[in-house]
Amino acid sequence: MKKKSKAVLESAGWIDSHCHFDFPDFDLDRDQEWQLAQQQGICGLIIPGISRQQGQGLAALCQPRPWLYALGLHPYFLSQHQQTDLDWLDAALHQARGSDDGLVAVGEFGLDFRKHTSDAERRAQLELFDAQLQLAKQHRLPVILHGVGAHDQIAAAIRRTGFAHGGVVHAFNGSEQQARRYLDLGFKLGLGGLYLSDRALKLQRTVDALPVDSWLLETDAPDMTPRMWPQRRNSPRLIPLLADHLAQAKGISTAELQSLQRDSLTSLLIL
Ligand SMILES: [Zn+2]
Repeated sequence: MKKKSKAVLESAGWIDSHCHFDFPDFDLDRDQEWQLAQQQGICGLIIPGISRQQGQGLAALCQPRPWLYALGLHPYFLSQHQQTDLDWLDAALHQARGSDDGLVAVGEFGLDFRKHTSDAERRAQLELFDAQLQLAKQHRLPVILHGVGAHDQIAAAIRRTGFAHGGVVHAFNGSEQQARRYLDLGFKLGLGGLYLSDRALKLQRTVDALPVDSWLLETDAPDMTPRMWPQRRNSPRLIPLLADHLAQAKGISTAELQSLQRDSLTSLLIL
């Protein structure tokens, strides 16, 4: 593991494993919000990549802070991605391997079959997905996956390509069977604000059924704001609340949960 990742993982506190802290939503008060988050015990972030244009700014944004990042082409923005963006991604991953700027994964990429429903769109998503999985394999990096209505297709692709570097399926809300299949493939499952909703009974049952170290805490801020949150904008400050709920559901202390979270991230982020 590289120095920067190691330093972030070894600091005391929580890590928000999926936070879009680079989004314009935070432009006016990013430093202030980060300070508040640190006061709540957050010690690091992982900021996912969503496009070439956005990804190009991440290394510089994360450099002076305990923030790690990933680069990827998000399926939600399918129409924006160009074929040459895959070449850019390949070159950027190659370059990051030789430096210590905090790149830890490929992503977020995946399949979103609720956003894109035509056969042509789904085929285009699958091609982009396969290509990024191959890049992650080549560069020996874990992945941050976005899956909506497509967990069976995602798991099939992971098997088909023999991808073995693991990663996290962020904001997981599939079935228990789909969850177990991901765990068997060496993945963790991202757990965020949805878990705090009274109506998320399926997710709560899945959390109850699986070992506590199956889950990585994340906010997906600024999105996925739970109803009880006082602001419209979600924040990494939500993590301690999520941790309280998960620790309580699993009958362990938050200190134990924190060290399990750290172990899980350490095992994934080999860089
Ligand atoms: Zn995301």
